[in-house]
Amino acid sequence: MDLARFPRFRLCHAPTPLEPMDRLSAMLGGPRLWVKRDDCTGLATGGNKTRKLEFLIGAALAEGADTVLTVGATQSNHVRQTAAAAAKAGLACEVLLERRITDAGVEYDRSGNVLLDGLLGARIHYVPKGTDLNAALDTLAEEIRIRGGRPYAFPAGGSSPVGALGYALVAAEIEAQANDLGLRLASIVHATGSAGTQAGLVAGLAANSNATPVLGIAVGKQRDVMEGLVRDLAAATADLIGVRGGMDDAATLVNAGYYGTAYGVPTPGMIEAVELAARQEGLLLDPVYSGKAMAGLIDLVRKGTWKAGEDVLFLHTGGIAGLFGYRSTFDGDNGGSAA
Ligand SMILES: *Cc1c(COP(=O)(O)O)cnc(C)c1O
Repeated sequence: MDLARFPRFRLCHAPTPLEPMDRLSAMLGGPRLWVKRDDCTGLATGGNKTRKLEFLIGAALAEGADTVLTVGATQSNHVRQTAAAAAKAGLACEVLLERRITDAGVEYDRSGNVLLDGLLGARIHYVPKGTDLNAALDTLAEEIRIRGGRPYAFPAGGSSPVGALGYALVAAEIEAQANDLGLRLASIVHATGSAGTQAGLVAGLAANSNATPVLGIAVGKQRDVMEGLVRDLAAATADLIGVRGGMDDAATLVNAGYYGTAYGVPTPGMIEAVELAARQEGLLLDPVYSGKAMAGLIDLVRKGTWKAGEDVLFLHTGGIAGLFGYRSTFDGDNGGSAA
């Protein structure tokens, strides 16, 4: 897989560690669970978008842009990592934050990622729930052009074929680490939202003729919709890389059974998963993505999806800053006494 021909701006601490989750595995009593620590990519509290941003910022710089634009929900991890990447690259950053969740409280609106967006120098424009974000991005880009700027827009989640290249590289990284550890992975499980992470992984695995199944746990769309997004973007990414041959259907599977009523709305399973990971492994998950993905993994283990002795990898996609936007969801839940 030759990715050296794509412009790239280095941002990541990589390879990120691949570690066992011994206590959580023992407690659940099924397969051996491992975690790939993409919460530790290093940029302004880390996460999966940093992988994509190496190629997205690379493309923006190659085009001579001076301002990057993107979109997300109020507590978007993608927006926070974009703001940090732009700062490091010396680019201005303007973001559209969609108020997709209202009445979530002052921490949701002001703390966590959104606090960091401002600190990192992003100019924030709020738009109401249901706004046509692509049209709004176009309008903002036009305004910047009229002011004499050179804008470059990243799609939601950084999920273009160029962004997904970051996860094609992660597929190779995981393969090398699994080989070192002598692991035959029965599955890679992770949160899927705008599909770039899973699509990039799938394209990267296909490039190496690696048949490891990938299971995306959806954070807010129906299964057929999400699988369609993953397949289309995986095919476009594979095209960009120049992968010959088809994609493995076992790698584009999505389970949409764990996000509850809507994107970003807490579920009992998410709360249990965040607490178990914290208390068994000292591992922080986030309420919107990795917590719901871990809730899915835990439930699937309890249902006997994998056998004892099999190895399953949880790809931790980050999002830790989002915890601080959800204080009331977790507050005081440790059995201690109130002050
Ligand atoms: C964006 C995000 C995801 C989903 O990744 P996609 O590439 O958008 O599918 C998962 N976890 C976290 C923490 C994220 O911020």
